[in-house]
Amino acid sequence: MNASCDHCGLDLVRESGFYLGSIYFNYGLTTIIALAVFFTLYLGYGITPDAQLWPLATFCVAFPLLFFRHARAFWLGMDVFFDKSQQ
Ligand SMILES: [Zn+2]
Repeated sequence: MNASCDHCGLDLVRESGFYLGSIYFNYGLTTIIALAVFFTLYLGYGITPDAQLWPLATFCVAFPLLFFRHARAFWLGMDVFFDKSQQ
């Protein structure tokens, strides 16, 4: 990860534990998507939980890994948005 933004110079290295919140965000989003897909397929299309297990388990492992840096960017963006002293 870069120490600062190449475009605006925003400091990207924060205090220890700052990006921990992005993990919660990533986990929460993964859970919401998995539950929405599960109930849509189960109640809407009658696909059994057994048939959904491995595709959704794969999703629950792959999605957080692929979304990791986006969750961090979102978390940093939220911090900059709400803390006006950084702008
Ligand atoms: Zn920037």
